[in-house]
Amino acid sequence: MASKVPMKNPIVEMDGDEMTRVMWDMIKKKLLAPNLDLKTEYYDLGLKKRDETEDKVTLAAAEAIKKHGVGVKCATITPDKNRVKEYSLKQEWKSPNGTIRAILDGTVFRKPILVNNIQPGVRTWVKPIIVGRHAYGDVYKNTEFKVPGPGKAELVFTDDKGKEIFRGTIQEFKKGGGVIQGIHNLDSSIHSFAKACMDYALDQKVDLWFGAKDTISKIYDGNFKLIFNELFEKEYREKFNKAGIQFNFTLIDDTVARIMKSEGGMLWACKNYDGDVLSDMVASAFGSLAMMTSVLVSPNGWIEYEAAHGTVQKHYYKHLKGEKTSSNCMATLFAWTGAIRKRGEMDGTGDICDFADALERAALSTIESGIMTGDLAKLAKPAAKEICSTEEFVDEIARQLGKTWS
Ligand code: NAP
Ligand code: MG
Repeated sequence: MASKVPMKNPIVEMDGDEMTRVMWDMIKKKLLAPNLDLKTEYYDLGLKKRDETEDKVTLAAAEAIKKHGVGVKCATITPDKNRVKEYSLKQEWKSPNGTIRAILDGTVFRKPILVNNIQPGVRTWVKPIIVGRHAYGDVYKNTEFKVPGPGKAELVFTDDKGKEIFRGTIQEFKKGGGVIQGIHNLDSSIHSFAKACMDYALDQKVDLWFGAKDTISKIYDGNFKLIFNELFEKEYREKFNKAGIQFNFTLIDDTVARIMKSEGGMLWACKNYDGDVLSDMVASAFGSLAMMTSVLVSPNGWIEYEAAHGTVQKHYYKHLKGEKTSSNCMATLFAWTGAIRKRGEMDGTGDICDFADALERAALSTIESGIMTGDLAKLAKPAAKEICSTEEFVDEIARQLGKTWS
C-alpha cells in the first residue's frame, strides 16, 4: 500500500443530520481516511449543535469557506414545528443553506451523475445538463394585491430625493376585480449571477446557455440579457474562445426546445422561477435525486459542494431501529470528491485531483457492474445484479478503488 496522499490546505467540512450524517462518517472512514491524509476544518452543523450555539456555528462555517476557499457540506435539517418538538429546539432555526448562500452571495449549480445502466428520461441526453438558478428576486420577493373591484393599478417609482421619475398604468379595472403583482431585481445580483455562471462554465469546460423572454419583457428580461452580454464581451469572450466553449443567448421557449433535442453537456443558466421549475424537471429526467450534486459558487471564487437531496429522514428512522437501509451515498460522495479535486486545483497538488478522479471512477464502475442501492435498482437497465445496503455499497466502492489506487 502506497503512502497516503498528502493535502496542503484544509477543506471546510460541515457535518449534518440523520442518514446523511451516517453516510458522511462511512465515506470518511472507509473511502477517504485510508487513502488520503485528509485535512479538514470541522464544523458540526447537525441540528443539536446549531441549537446549542444559537446557529453561530453556521455563520462560522460560512466565514471559514471565505478563508479557505472550498467547503463540503452534509445535508442538514431545516427545522419546522415538528422538528422543534423532536429536538426540543430553542427556536425554528433558518435553513443553513440559505444562510451560507446569503453570506457567500452564491449561485447554486445542480449537476447529475451519469452511469451507463440508468437511462435518462430524454433519450438524446447523454451528457449531464447543469442547471444554474438565479436565487434572488422576481416572484420570490414580490408584492401582490387582490384587486377587489373596479379601479386603476399604477406602477410608480420615486427616487431617493422624493421626485417621481416614472408612473405607468398597469391596468384599469373596469368590470370586477383581479390581481396585480410587483416584482424586482437588482443589477448587482444579476451581475453576480452572470459572473458565477461564466466562471462555472469555464471551470466545467461546457457551453453556457441562457434564455429569457426579452421580446415580451423588453425592459425587465431585456436587462438580464444586457447584463449577461456586457459582462461576456468585457471579461469573458476571450476566455471562452481559449477554452473552446460558447455563450448562447436565446428566447427561453427556444432554449427549452433546443435542450430537449440536445445531447446535454451544457450549463443552463435560469432565471429564478425558470430554475425552480426546470431544475426539478431535469433532475427527475436524469433518474434520482441521489444522483444529483449541488455546488454553491460565489463571484469571489469561494465554492461549496453538497448533495442536492435532504437528510433521508425515513431511512434514518429505520436505521435507528437497527434495520439495514439502502440509502444511496453517491451525491454525498461526489460532494466530497468535488471539494477534494477543487482543493487540489487550488493548491496545485495533482495527486489529490487524481485521487478524486479514481474514487469517482470506482463509484461509477460499482453501479455499472450492477451493484447498487434500492433507489437505482428501480431504474437500472439491465436489471441490478445485487441490491445492497448503504454500508455494503461503500465497501464495494472501497474494493473497486483498491484495484486502481494503491
Ligand atoms: P429527502 O431527504 O431528500 O428524501 C426524500 C425521499 O427521497 C426519501 O424518503 C427517499 O425516498 C428519497 N431519497 C432522497 N435521498 C436519497 C438517497 N440518498 N438515497 C435513497 N433515497 C433517497 O427529503 P425529505 O425527507 O423531504 O427531507 C428530510 C430532511 O432533509 C428535512 O428535514 C429537510 O429540512 C432536509 N433537507 C435538507 C436539504 C439540504 O441540506 N440540502 C435539502 C432538502 C431537504 P424513499 O423514502 O422512497 O426511499
Ligand atoms: Mg422547486
